[in-house]
Amino acid sequence: MKEELKQIKQEVAEQLRHITDLESLQELEVRFFGRKGKLNAVLKTIKDLPEDVRKEMGGLANNMKKDLLSLVDETRDGLKDLLADKPSSTKVFDPTIPGAQVAQGTLHPITHMMYDLNDAFLSLGFEVFEGPEITSEEYAFDHLNFPPDHPARETMDTYWVAGTEDQQGAKRLSLRPHLTGASVRFMQENKPPFRFVYPGRVFRSEATDASHERTFYQYEALIVDKHVPFSAGRVLVDAILERVFGQKVTTRMRSGFFPFVEPGFEIDMQCLVCSGKGCSVCGRVGWVEMMPGGPPHPNVLKAGGIDSNEWQGFYLNIGLDRLVMMKYGIDDIRLFHSGDLRFLKQF
Ligand SMILES: [Zn+2]
Repeated sequence: MKEELKQIKQEVAEQLRHITDLESLQELEVRFFGRKGKLNAVLKTIKDLPEDVRKEMGGLANNMKKDLLSLVDETRDGLKDLLADKPSSTKVFDPTIPGAQVAQGTLHPITHMMYDLNDAFLSLGFEVFEGPEITSEEYAFDHLNFPPDHPARETMDTYWVAGTEDQQGAKRLSLRPHLTGASVRFMQENKPPFRFVYPGRVFRSEATDASHERTFYQYEALIVDKHVPFSAGRVLVDAILERVFGQKVTTRMRSGFFPFVEPGFEIDMQCLVCSGKGCSVCGRVGWVEMMPGGPPHPNVLKAGGIDSNEWQGFYLNIGLDRLVMMKYGIDDIRLFHSGDLRFLKQF
C-alpha cells in the first residue's frame, strides 16, 4: 500500500506541473480525490488491513491527502493570479482597477513655437499653407530673382537630388534650401488680396556649429494687397513678437540684400536673455538677427502671376529655431535635433 500511495503522490505532483487552466485542475481533483478517485480507492482497502498496521497506514494516507490538496490549492491560486493578467472573454471587467501607465511625450519646443506663431497669425486673418520639402531650381531660385550665377545655387549650399544635378530649372530637383519658393506656388494658385504663412523644414549643405545646422525651421509670412505701406510690415513684426514672447520686444531694421525683396531689410530683435547687454546667446552684441523681410521684388510677383503695378506686398522670413533659442535662452542650435531627452523634457 505504501508503494501505491507513493505512486499517487508522484503522479499528482507531475500532473500539477503541466496544468495551465482551472478546468484541467478541477478534472485532476476529481480524478485523484473524488469519491471514485484513485486515492479513495486505496483508502477503501485500509479497513481490510491487519489491525496493527491499519492505524499507521490510515494516518499516513490522510497526511498525504492533506499535503496534496494544499498543493492543489496553491496551484489554483497561482493560476488565478496568472489568468487575471490575461484578457479573456469570460473575465469580468472591473472599472476600479487602475489603468496601465502610458509614457507621455512632450511637444518639441520648435513645434510649440510654430503653434504659437500659427495662433498669432491666424488671429490676424492669415491662413496657413504648406509646400513640398523637395523643390526644384525653378522654385528655389529662378522664380525668386536669384541671378543664374548666385553662389547659393552651388552644391556647397544646396542639396541637389542625385541624377538631376545636370538638369536645369524645373527638372533640377533639390531639398528646399529656404521656404520662400512655397510663396510663389501659393501666388500661382490664388488670387490676391491674400495673407498667409507657411512653416516648414529647410536644408542647407554647410558645416554645423552652435548657430548653424544642416536642417532647421523657417516660418514665413506674405501679405499681398493693393496698398501695403512699409510701416505695416514693421507693426506686424512687433505685434507677432510681442504675442510670442508675452512681452514688449525691441526691434530694429537694417537694410540688407536678398534677391527676392526690394528694398530688403534685416530685422533684429534686442536679446531678451541679456536685455541688450551682450551674452553667449546673442554673441555679446545684444541684438539677434531674427528675419529678413521687405516688399516682394516685382520679378517674384510676376513669377506668381501677379501684376506689380497693381499689387504690393510684404515678406517676413522668420528663423524659427532662432526664435525658440531666444525664448528659452538656448545657446546651441544643435540641441534641437540631438534627440537628448534631458534637453527635450524641459519643455
Ligand atoms: Zn544676449
